[in-house]
Amino acid sequence: MRFDAGVATDIGRVREGNEDSFLSEHPLYAVADGMGGHRGGEVASQLALDTLGTLFREGRGTLAEQVREANRVVFERSAGDRKVAGMGTTLTAALIEGDSAHLVHVGDSRAYLLRAGSLRQVTQDHTLVARMVKLGEITPGEAEVHPHRNVLTRVLGTEPDMEPDEEDLGLLEGDRLLLCSDGLTSMVTEDQIQAIMETTPRAQEVAEKLVRTANRAGGLDNITVLVLDALPDEGGGSGPLRSTDVAPRTIRRDEPTWDRRRLVRWGVSVAVFLVALVAGFAAMRTWLDGRWYVGVANGHVAVYQGIPAEVLGFELSHVDVETDISADEAMALPLYSGLADGINATSREDALGIVDQIEEDLRKQDRLGQETVP
Ligand code: MN
Repeated sequence: MRFDAGVATDIGRVREGNEDSFLSEHPLYAVADGMGGHRGGEVASQLALDTLGTLFREGRGTLAEQVREANRVVFERSAGDRKVAGMGTTLTAALIEGDSAHLVHVGDSRAYLLRAGSLRQVTQDHTLVARMVKLGEITPGEAEVHPHRNVLTRVLGTEPDMEPDEEDLGLLEGDRLLLCSDGLTSMVTEDQIQAIMETTPRAQEVAEKLVRTANRAGGLDNITVLVLDALPDEGGGSGPLRSTDVAPRTIRRDEPTWDRRRLVRWGVSVAVFLVALVAGFAAMRTWLDGRWYVGVANGHVAVYQGIPAEVLGFELSHVDVETDISADEAMALPLYSGLADGINATSREDALGIVDQIEEDLRKQDRLGQETVP
């Protein structure tokens, strides 16, 4: 059996920092969701996983012992540093040993197993509502919307001693293990999670897709997702376990949430403005195309489509017909003195009629001139 891991973490759409942490170092995988004001949450989850990682690499004790030691380290830091007093963290860890996963868990992050088309939560939440459900006081549905659903009954780092849950999980080829913070499970239903896990080929893709789905659902909390696939050995050999760690992907972790929102709002405004602008131009074009006047082009009387004006350097008309009638001669007739400013017409035919009239009046004028000349 070999393993393929994928991991993604995101600040979400509302929080100002990411207090989740993860560890993906085959054969040890973990997620932690920190809590506590003034960066306390970030410090707690990171310190817990750093401690766990260090103890594991040094080979000191069992996984549960390493988690209990991490609890002590976080608790002592919290007691000795007023800035992070009272901080704590959830921690859900899976250690792969041969064909099984050893799970150690405290808090309300979760581990799920997808096997043969069914998704099962393999950790129990250490929350007030989970306890109330267990006692039959409320239903699981009521727990999901309970005002105190975030109250934890067990946390790493808030007491000098803490006893985590432990469970051994035998793995089969094709199993898909999910570790996640409540930023996923509070936003995305188990049915949706299962559908994505079943239809997405690679572990890394699953992790990123689940984070995106939680964000699309509102992203009210930090979201961390770690996916681990148990795969058949290549060629069926029994070689040493291959580490298939992927580079941890952080999605938009450092980007301030508000900037992203402002950017989206700005983008929408620009799009609306451009649409209005294009619609406005189209409407104006149609209107202008229905306007006609008689004016002057290259010293000649001409028929124009549009209006005799310009906006920001754009002429709002163009020459339709340029005649060979002299504009100066036409303007010498009192009736057409306003030619330079444009003589409005109701249609193209009307404009051409005005041109004919000018021509006729000029001819009359010529005849008169010839008659008066002796
Ligand atoms: Mn959380």
